[in-house]
Amino acid sequence: MPAARPAGTPRIAIVGSGFAGIGMAICLKRMGIASFAIYEAAHDVGGTWRDNVYPGAACDIPSHLYSFSFEPNPSWTRTFASQSEILAYLQHCADKYGLAPFIRFGARVSAARFDDATRVWQLDIVRGGSRERVEADIVIAANGALSRPALPAIPGIERFAGKLFHSAAWDHDYALEGKTVAVIGTGASAIQFVPRIQPRVAQLHLFQRTPPWIMPRPDRPISERAQRLFRRFPMSQRLLRHALYWQHEARAVAFVSHPRLMKGPTAFSLAYLARRVPDAHLREKLTPDYRFGCKRVLLSSDYYPALAQPNVELVTTAIGEIATDGIVTTDGRHRAVDAIVCATGFQVNDVGAPFTVIGANGADLDARWRRDGPEAYLGTSVAGFPNFFMIVGPNTGLGHNSMVYMIESQIDYIADCLRTLARRGARTMTVTDAAQRAFNERLQHTLHRSVWQTGCRSWYLSASGKNTALWPGLSFVFKHRTRRVRVRDYSFA
Ligand code: NAP
Repeated sequence: MPAARPAGTPRIAIVGSGFAGIGMAICLKRMGIASFAIYEAAHDVGGTWRDNVYPGAACDIPSHLYSFSFEPNPSWTRTFASQSEILAYLQHCADKYGLAPFIRFGARVSAARFDDATRVWQLDIVRGGSRERVEADIVIAANGALSRPALPAIPGIERFAGKLFHSAAWDHDYALEGKTVAVIGTGASAIQFVPRIQPRVAQLHLFQRTPPWIMPRPDRPISERAQRLFRRFPMSQRLLRHALYWQHEARAVAFVSHPRLMKGPTAFSLAYLARRVPDAHLREKLTPDYRFGCKRVLLSSDYYPALAQPNVELVTTAIGEIATDGIVTTDGRHRAVDAIVCATGFQVNDVGAPFTVIGANGADLDARWRRDGPEAYLGTSVAGFPNFFMIVGPNTGLGHNSMVYMIESQIDYIADCLRTLARRGARTMTVTDAAQRAFNERLQHTLHRSVWQTGCRSWYLSASGKNTALWPGLSFVFKHRTRRVRVRDYSFA
């Protein structure tokens, strides 16, 4: 933590340097606060856009919307930016705003403990083989919701003797050319890399548990001329961003309160499937039997055509076990494979805190979340945890619009928390139990009527069916709600 700081300026520890951590750090610098450090376990910034390097990794939200509002990028080369372009954008942000001196790379926060006597957080940092302890007045967990890859709990997975990796830890040193490859999962990641690896492998067995709803992805290059226009007339890019925002925002109405508005997109998606997959048997396997929007609607224009290729088999019989040399389905059929790619998503629900977090009076965030499910107030504060703030905490995910918008809303909110602390001359603020309970009761009530609770299995829901991942509705309502701290919802000390 930087030592020199004006009296009264809090020491702030940010955990993670993805969109959330970088955005928060830029905000602090703009507020004139330099007494902060970003602890990053990896050796580069970028978070999910640094880690997910599978072939074809790209954003499914348009580039002009998937960026900080204060740092537009007129040079996006495609309407849906690739992973490498988004990573380069985040590296650019870190450079432009001079964040390098504030980032501790290779430093993993293993624990944060609030000391009741001094009202200060003690952080345990693991760096290589060594450990250090640092103090902070404020902890901002910006470690991302989709950062813990989930390997499937399939019997025998540990004894597979071929190559096995998760899509979020792609092994580019392993040549897929000429190999027989199994892919488990047909979610957002799989539909992006399957079309890329299909031409390279000899045989692809794609194991699908649930078919996703898919819409075409209108991805195309952004011409040099358009990029020049955005550079010369920044207003043109701002207008485009606004148009994209409202176009996406309109979908929330259907997701949350007017499911009948789904009829049009449902018919469109089925017609698209029919157009792209002429084989009736394959089409039947790819037709979802649950409500459009219940799971994340995926965008792809090359997934269906890839599945129609002769070297692809779509397997819909459940996996029974993994053998040393392949996969055995519950009908007893054994498929020998050289490699298995698990595109099986991330641990989001029914998991504890991302690192040990001990709040006031020994409150243990991990134990609490494992018992009751992840829960926070505005996805940012947690009762019992003074001066502990999260970005992309529980129920801040979106199924319909840009997460960067939510991240910026939370950053602005945390900035207002810091201003509120300074204005009141307080050292700590803690959301009250009552405020957190009331907030979550309302939230769950709204979620109850949403399309996400209509009976499908998704990472939005815990095993008990509680949605702890998504914000129920319009993102501008969240922005409005996070504009100012409601001081009556917090206790100050
Ligand atoms: P995902 O969408 O959760 O998909 C996981 C897939 O694995 C599902 O098809 C799931 O089947 C299957 N699966 C899980 N466990 C299995 C098991 N034991 N046996 C068989 N199949 C199993 O995960 P993801 O593709 O990594 O995406 C996660 C999230 O990351 C997305 O929803 C999105 O928010 C984000 N993402 C975004 C982008 C982007 O373009 N911006 C790209 C990639 C990911 P079921 O459906 O039956 O559960």
